[in-house]
Amino acid sequence: MKNIPTIAIGDVLELKKPHPCKNNLFLVNRVGSDIKMTCMLCKRTLILERVKVEKMIKSITANGDK
Ligand SMILES: [Zn+2]
Repeated sequence: MKNIPTIAIGDVLELKKPHPCKNNLFLVNRVGSDIKMTCMLCKRTLILERVKVEKMIKSITANGDK
């Protein structure tokens, strides 16, 4: 069985692979076939394929109620 995490706008993703700035927390800005997210330390924006992001997730912190 596949365990696909649900990613929503406003969630904070902890990824297995850190950003070059050593931070591994990213805020989700847009969700589609690609995920747009902002590094919470250096504020740079990343756009990655959703399938890739799903494999990189260590944990998800939902921001507020769903
Ligand atoms: Zn960064």
